[in-house]
Amino acid sequence: MKKLTKTVKCKLILDDEQFNSIKNTLASFNNACNDILQISKEYKVKSKFKLQKLCYYVIKDRYKLPANLVVRAIARVSANKKSKIFNGLSFDLDARTFSFKNMKVSMSSINGRLKNIPIGIGDYQRNMLDGKSSTSAKIVYDKKHKCFFIHIAVGYVFSDTVPSGNVIGIDRGLYNIAYTTARLKFSGKQAMHKRKQNIKLRASLQAKGTKGSKKLLKRLGGKEKRWMTDINHNISKQIVNNAGKGDMLILEDLKYIRERIKLAKKQRTIVHSWAFGQLQNFIEYKAMEKGLIVAYVDPRYTSQRCSECGFVHRSNRNSHKFICKECGYTANADYNASCNIRRVYLDTLADGVMSKTPKASPARAVASPCL
Ligand SMILES: [Zn+2]
Repeated sequence: MKKLTKTVKCKLILDDEQFNSIKNTLASFNNACNDILQISKEYKVKSKFKLQKLCYYVIKDRYKLPANLVVRAIARVSANKKSKIFNGLSFDLDARTFSFKNMKVSMSSINGRLKNIPIGIGDYQRNMLDGKSSTSAKIVYDKKHKCFFIHIAVGYVFSDTVPSGNVIGIDRGLYNIAYTTARLKFSGKQAMHKRKQNIKLRASLQAKGTKGSKKLLKRLGGKEKRWMTDINHNISKQIVNNAGKGDMLILEDLKYIRERIKLAKKQRTIVHSWAFGQLQNFIEYKAMEKGLIVAYVDPRYTSQRCSECGFVHRSNRNSHKFICKECGYTANADYNASCNIRRVYLDTLADGVMSKTPKASPARAVASPCL
């Protein structure tokens, strides 16, 4: 049995009074953080414990914040490496300052407890939250839409399970962002092209160095991220929709992809490594929604190994083509890799790793929801 924590974003449905209460609480929280920061600088104190001793009562009295929000503000200042002014759009809630029951939120504010706030959610969030309780959340202000969101952290319990359907291997890479044993292929060409364009644009903006160009630079980063997020949503959706009931999705452990990206860093046009983490997250989420299991394996040699005969050699791989020097098997290199990812998982199943004794490269089953 394993535990996994997921964050579910929900819009808070507030009347004017509640909205203002939360807005004022956020402002007070930021002001408190800035005050604490000053005290921390003045007394050269950085530790949470010492800061709390030094300023808890002063801050609580000055801002009329609920006790645990003062503690949170102190924690935030203490954890903050840079001594920048706090102008954040969020504050954290814990078991004392918030509760979640029957799809309604109660939370502390500087105007007292706000009770039974409804949340605006769709079927997806409803499923994720159904029957759940939570002891941790974050309130986030959406500047653009002028509304508040709550990010509720909920835990799920998963069990290791043998799949009843197909086992689908998924290879992730730079040339193809994803390639599955079900022959779904998502080329990385477009992403690389986009990145090349942005690098050029960025260089010219940096060369300008004006105030306006700096603003544009900042916006460009956000735009690129949103673009990639859309791509990842689309890829994960197609992979999960393509899977049937009882199927299992096998991915390689993210740390190996990070290593590969590090090696390829000289090519600056490659997809960011955060994008692969995000894709993994999306696949996990969507798989969970559908009741599918996701597991991770150690992918060593998956690119050099022949998925037909098992022969491992570096020269088997010839850029994007795989040609086995032993048996002559020919395939797309990323497809061959996805077959190997699936095989690694099936081998560990056959070895009984899933039941008890872990061997050299154990598979790590992550999400098999029993919602
Ligand atoms: Zn072979």
